[in-house]
Amino acid sequence: MVRYYCPYCNPKYQFQRQSSKGNLICGLCGEDLVKKPFIRLNQIIALVAASSLLLPLIYTFIFIIKNQINPPNKNYQANGTLMIISKETI
Ligand SMILES: [Zn+2]
Repeated sequence: MVRYYCPYCNPKYQFQRQSSKGNLICGLCGEDLVKKPFIRLNQIIALVAASSLLLPLIYTFIFIIKNQINPPNKNYQANGTLMIISKETI
């Protein structure tokens, strides 16, 4: 469904009228109506901005969940450093 709108008038009070030529014009100012695009450019920009904020958050969540399910083996390294420290102190 293609919707038409007048770029000059308030969308609340717009109504369509057919001119003598047969094309749709604005009922208030008489300008030719413009086709409303399915996805506007500012919608795409907003989507990119929102995803740039949300994607790192989602990635962090996935990383945290992955670490909780399969935690990295840090105990060995911790013991190794402890051994070195204890050897140096003794
Ligand atoms: Zn108009």
